[in-house]
Amino acid sequence: MHRWSVLFLTAALSVAAEIPQQWQAALERISARSLAGHVSFLASDALEGRDTPSKGLEVAAEYIASRFRAAGLEPAGDDGYFQTAPWIVREQPRRTVISLRGVGKVIRPAAAQTAVAADEAGRFDQSRCKVVELGPRPVTPGLAGAVIAAIVPANESRRELFRRYARLRRALAKNPPALLLLAEQKGVFSNRLRRPRLIDPAEPPREEFPAVAVNDASFAAELDAARRAGRRVELSIQWSEPHRRQVTLQNVAAVIRGRDPELRDTAVMLTAHYDHIGMKAQGEGDRIFNGANDDASGVAAMIEIAETLARLPQKPRRSILFVAFFGEERGSLGAKHYVRHPVFPLVATVADINLEHLGRTDSNEGPQLRRLAVTGFELSNVAETLQRAGRATGVTVYRHEKYSEPFFSRSDNMALAKKGVPAHSVSVTFFFPDYHGVGDHWDKIDYENMAAVTRTIALGVLELAESREAPRWNPENTKAEPYREAREEAAASER
Ligand SMILES: [Zn+2]
Repeated sequence: MHRWSVLFLTAALSVAAEIPQQWQAALERISARSLAGHVSFLASDALEGRDTPSKGLEVAAEYIASRFRAAGLEPAGDDGYFQTAPWIVREQPRRTVISLRGVGKVIRPAAAQTAVAADEAGRFDQSRCKVVELGPRPVTPGLAGAVIAAIVPANESRRELFRRYARLRRALAKNPPALLLLAEQKGVFSNRLRRPRLIDPAEPPREEFPAVAVNDASFAAELDAARRAGRRVELSIQWSEPHRRQVTLQNVAAVIRGRDPELRDTAVMLTAHYDHIGMKAQGEGDRIFNGANDDASGVAAMIEIAETLARLPQKPRRSILFVAFFGEERGSLGAKHYVRHPVFPLVATVADINLEHLGRTDSNEGPQLRRLAVTGFELSNVAETLQRAGRATGVTVYRHEKYSEPFFSRSDNMALAKKGVPAHSVSVTFFFPDYHGVGDHWDKIDYENMAAVTRTIALGVLELAESREAPRWNPENTKAEPYREAREEAAASER
């Protein structure tokens, strides 16, 4: 017997008494094997990384719905278990033509080397363009209404380049240019801009300037030479109307009704995102981002808890709402859609526990056995309930020194928190080897540990749903103020 097994046993025995009798059997039903079953399917190559939108994502949604159906849960969507989002996907224009008049020559990059992010067709003939470098500090001298070409340095990391790009866009937002062109030679921005853009037709489209990326070394070199010499350059750019198609995205939602005649109209939410980032467009070897830990693990735990609680002979006082969100990796799109179409009024939603990264224990900071971090730990008293549940199940529920605060805004819980719902994410690890890599495979997960933390979460949810007292944002914490105010606003608008 390993040392840690002895520790597990003593921990389990000394605290077993704290788990209410009627819930004990339900928690014991949560099994490592069952969790492995869910994760291995959701993170299989067959689902091709569950990009939003994709066939793999649809299959994952069907799987989650089928598990809810098998458990006999009440559907909570507008189409059975599906909360449908009829959205539009904006893709690349069919035609893009670019030419640059340099010293004694004209450069015409191939269409396959260009990408356009624009709402409509565009045409810039012989435009004089201002050439800048995509440097650490954005340079924007009097560029309103102009065509700006930014030279992308070839030796910076993707991360740093995206940071600089975000900074430049922010700086340009006040005096938007007519067009921002990125001249690069490694395809970082052309790959990004080529990605389909998801648009909710019910939301007013965001006003922003068009961006074009050109991945062509001689094009970038010519622009850069002109910039250094202070020479004028003339650019000609044209693209046709971007192609649009309709798509139906879906959150997957089910409810267990509470037993209390009044409190059953309020709900505790348990959520996780079932999308991931899809596949690499090209390259040798493994191209599938399986997203086992991120976040098939969260979805698997949610399914397992739903199946378990559905069997409780006596339901808790409040209702429990399970939602698997689409599009987290594309900017919490599913969670944002949910808060515009909530199943329970947001003011009657007493808490959300959002599940992320529950499977891997091999954190970049070392092994994380029987540990569960809560984001935004001190912002509300939800973490206290989870901590109690952890003591009863032998799991340390804690505030991560470095990540609990920044990660509060890095997942779907934030969309709910912004509307005033005490909403937090819980994770075993934040960063782990294979994070957003092709190696995030189902067989690297510690399922015994995952079962232990899943029991902790299940008990926490049960206690929140059983308590007559609803969780609240911390009145003494100034960082909780915007969420407290959102809660008060939501309550006022209900009256
Ligand atoms: Zn995630």
